[in-house]
Amino acid sequence: MIKVSDSEIKHMEKQHPGITDQIWDFENAELPPCPVCGSTDTASIQVGVIGRTIYLAMATTKFKLYPNGNGKGIYFCNTCQVQFGPSRRTGG
Ligand SMILES: [Zn+2]
Repeated sequence: MIKVSDSEIKHMEKQHPGITDQIWDFENAELPPCPVCGSTDTASIQVGVIGRTIYLAMATTKFKLYPNGNGKGIYFCNTCQVQFGPSRRTGG
């Protein structure tokens, strides 16, 4: 779910050209449901707190930002706040 307004996205785009496409890539990503509670309100965990990733995390609920990788799973459930999935991404 997009958490910011169109004008906020436009502002982000000025600072980080191309970020609008990235936001929508995450927003439209097919993510697995939570294995614990079954919620489909899940996010892809991304590592590295920099300006661009902070904006992505602000913009969509499907982007969960961690400062460091912890190997516990690449997805995050926004409902019950658990990490799940494989410990690392395969391919892309
Ligand atoms: Zn859950």
